[in-house]
Amino acid sequence: MARYTGPVCKICRREGTKLFLKGDRCTTKCTLDTRRGSKAPGQHGATSRKQKEYGIHLREKQKVRRYYGVLERQFVNYFEKAARSKGMTGENLLIMLERRLDNVVYRMGLGTSRSEARQLVLHGHIMVNGKKADIPSMLLRAGDEVSVTERFKNSKKFLGTKKIVGEKEHTTPGLLDNFRSATVPKWLVTDKEKVTGKLISLPARDDIDFDINERLIVEFYSK
Ligand code: SF4
Repeated sequence: MARYTGPVCKICRREGTKLFLKGDRCTTKCTLDTRRGSKAPGQHGATSRKQKEYGIHLREKQKVRRYYGVLERQFVNYFEKAARSKGMTGENLLIMLERRLDNVVYRMGLGTSRSEARQLVLHGHIMVNGKKADIPSMLLRAGDEVSVTERFKNSKKFLGTKKIVGEKEHTTPGLLDNFRSATVPKWLVTDKEKVTGKLISLPARDDIDFDINERLIVEFYSK
């Protein structure tokens, strides 16, 4: 199944919650805050229908999958791996998704959305323990250090740009500003000067502040 390339706000409308897929815009001008955005997409979006049990489970699974930007097959693989691991399957699943390299890059503030963070990884701008890492799904461990390449540190995307138009100066902030102002979860520490991030421990379930009921996902796949 191919990656979705359509309008992302439609996904949030479908799930009825903010999934923060569009970077800065999600905090300043979210479609979900408008009257149109409060309805599900499609001709019958405005019609309120009572969800059946299957629908409730499916929506929760889709919400989490889309929040982390993972394809269905990959998500099933994560679930199977989580079920084989010790402990609660739902919690294992969420912790695994949090440990993905693209998610860690996003949590560090190197990317205004997970898809932007994923692009940085795919384009070879990210290093793990000093070595280039270009696989967004790479699972990080406690002690791993994430940094950016020297080449990327000198790029316009990272540093931002200044342009003089007429008499006015137009500034486009770079990812460095985002990185410096980001609040990171407690399992991650960042060095604002060296532009690095280190996992001091593995994420715990309580560290994931997004509203998720993982029990519904477990029930969805257990049918
Ligand atoms: Fe979702 Fe962001 Fe669009 Fe709001 S602006 S609907 S959070 S993608």
